[in-house]
Amino acid sequence: MVRPMELTPSDLIYAIFVREDGKKFEIPSMKGQQYLSLDDAVQVCRKTVDSGIPAVMVYGVLKEKDADGSCALRRDGFHARVFKTLKKEMGEDLVLISNLCLCDHTVDEICVYSENGKVLNEKTAEMLGKIAVVHAEAGADVIAPAGMVDGQVRHIRSALDKEGFEDVPVMTYVKINSLLFQPFFETMTLSKEEVPKRAQDPSKFRTDVINQKMFMRKVDLDVSEGADIVIVKPALTNLDLILRVKEAYPTIPIAAYQVSGEYAMIKLLGQHAHLDENTFLMETLNSIKRAGADTIISYHALQAASILSK
Ligand SMILES: [Zn+2]
Repeated sequence: MVRPMELTPSDLIYAIFVREDGKKFEIPSMKGQQYLSLDDAVQVCRKTVDSGIPAVMVYGVLKEKDADGSCALRRDGFHARVFKTLKKEMGEDLVLISNLCLCDHTVDEICVYSENGKVLNEKTAEMLGKIAVVHAEAGADVIAPAGMVDGQVRHIRSALDKEGFEDVPVMTYVKINSLLFQPFFETMTLSKEEVPKRAQDPSKFRTDVINQKMFMRKVDLDVSEGADIVIVKPALTNLDLILRVKEAYPTIPIAAYQVSGEYAMIKLLGQHAHLDENTFLMETLNSIKRAGADTIISYHALQAASILSK
């Protein structure tokens, strides 16, 4: 009678991995989740809409990358084709969020350009702005830059505005360093091997887990540059930071990302600790919503929506 909130499927965002080579198989580091071909992605998006989930975060896994990531600017490139197809099939029924990062397009799979060990923020952010325009033109409704580059929101906002995409919001990632990202890194590499490993450690592009000032400075910067939505990730280990952003910016929507390691943790508890996976999943999602998240990105989104509909 006095429950202050109710979690619903409309609070959730599902994350999908679409492969250019069209191969469909279970993601080795995230058992229970599948790589999708573009055709499969359409089916999964239909299922997502039918589940009452309003949006998907789209990851494109390329067949080939290049040295500077300029393949990302091709209007007929894979990401553009994914957004074109999904927008054509789903129309206004599903919000398409583009996960935007240089590492998805460059052979070295590093999120930034650098020179002599120095990160080139402006050059990277400018490139992200150009890629954002390609994705928006193709049908992406929201741009989510993942590289944590200073200036990325400013460059993307101005590039989108210049090309007439003023209504495409920027949903910026503010990441806290965590081992919970590890299963994800294995999903996005060029999978020549069975279980590919990303060689580079991108931890220097994330904020320190015990330094909330560093985290808030990054939030301040991205909001001041025009971020429309802030993503906090991982979710479960940073509930206090979700609340902190909520208090500092009551009018900015917050997305919490229940990351790959959280997904695996919930699955493993179900398998190894005789706990009910579904009950624990709902406990985590409710905690994240209680902390102040307006939306939750989760690999468990379809499963959670099915539990909620019972
Ligand atoms: Zn990246």
